[in-house]
Amino acid sequence: MIPQTSKRLGILGGGQLGRMSALAAANLGIRTHIYTPESNGPAEQVACKTTIGNYENINKIKMFCDEVDVVSYEFENIPVETIRFIQKHKPVYPDDRLIEITQHRVREKSFLNDIGIPTAKWAEIKSADDIIPALNAIGAREAILKTTRFGYDGKGQLKYKLGDDIYETWAKLGATELICEDIVPFSCEISAIIARDRLGQMAFYGPVQNEHRNHILSRTIVPAQIPERTAAHARKLCELLAEAVDLTGVLALEMFLCPDGRLLANEIAPRTHNSGHWTINACACSQFEQHVRTVCGLPIGVPARHSDAVMLNVLGEDLPYVAPFYEAKNACIHFYGKQESRTGRKMGHVTILKERGQNDTDPATDGIIRKFLGHTGNSG
Ligand code: AMP
Repeated sequence: MIPQTSKRLGILGGGQLGRMSALAAANLGIRTHIYTPESNGPAEQVACKTTIGNYENINKIKMFCDEVDVVSYEFENIPVETIRFIQKHKPVYPDDRLIEITQHRVREKSFLNDIGIPTAKWAEIKSADDIIPALNAIGAREAILKTTRFGYDGKGQLKYKLGDDIYETWAKLGATELICEDIVPFSCEISAIIARDRLGQMAFYGPVQNEHRNHILSRTIVPAQIPERTAAHARKLCELLAEAVDLTGVLALEMFLCPDGRLLANEIAPRTHNSGHWTINACACSQFEQHVRTVCGLPIGVPARHSDAVMLNVLGEDLPYVAPFYEAKNACIHFYGKQESRTGRKMGHVTILKERGQNDTDPATDGIIRKFLGHTGNSG
């Protein structure tokens, strides 16, 4: 017998994460209805139905609610009031509390620290005049300043050094609330993904190792090349976090690994994550399938990894270097169907599978990867 499940999944947001969840839902016999402000986006092309509307358009949102059994989202910057409105009509997973925490970097860091997850030292900035006191508070001569809201892929952040003009810095960042963060001299950046179902059962992926180019994820190495006990600790932190927010759904935790072995949390994504795309090809049950399963009330899947992997993001400027992957062994190509390509825009990704525990890929494939990374300035 097929397990009891919500049959109509509503997803707020129409990008690639929604697309890959909708594809996973289709495989499970679940119909996806996308709600997005932009037409012809990546998710619309593969979903059963799409409503085009703003997140503030309560009438449209209500009609969307009436047509689905459960609602989730593929990006976190949806007004929390909209999530709360939907919750009056249909369940939303993950719920408004997690969205509220992750929409604001100060709330996010406070929450992490309150539940015992360490982060870089930080201080809040509410005006240009708070900048120097904030640096003093964290005991640093330079720091990273980030807008508390709407920052992603390095947008809305810059390095500030004592002596730089505070008013210019404040204006450059849009004269809005900021967080001042100690610069972590990390040895590498890792992330992990955790899924949790309505019964509290969890499935963990990673940790994986992430390399960025211009603050945008460039390459994910699976698994992260870190000691076993560090990996186990990362898993503990994710479980602690998922339980603390009573997660139903999927979340990702980005972390810095310090040279002394400490793990500092950087950011929570209350959704599937770019650093988990490899799970589509290297696991029987991907992060996207877990997303659908957990929010729709299906049993959580087994997160076992049958292969190691390298995931390469394909940005607009990388498109001319993708062709050789079509003939490469164990290369899995994914495009998101975006109509317009731009520098820095995520157009797709390629996952290259490797035998578990074997560092080497097939030499020809290795050459293709190196060429791809070489063009990006990442020598691999
Ligand atoms: P974020 O938008 O917070 O994810 O930051 C984007 C990238 O900036 C991270 O992946 C890091 O490479 C870098 N970064 C952010 N915060 C810090 C920090 N406190 N110390 C060092 N590097 C950071």
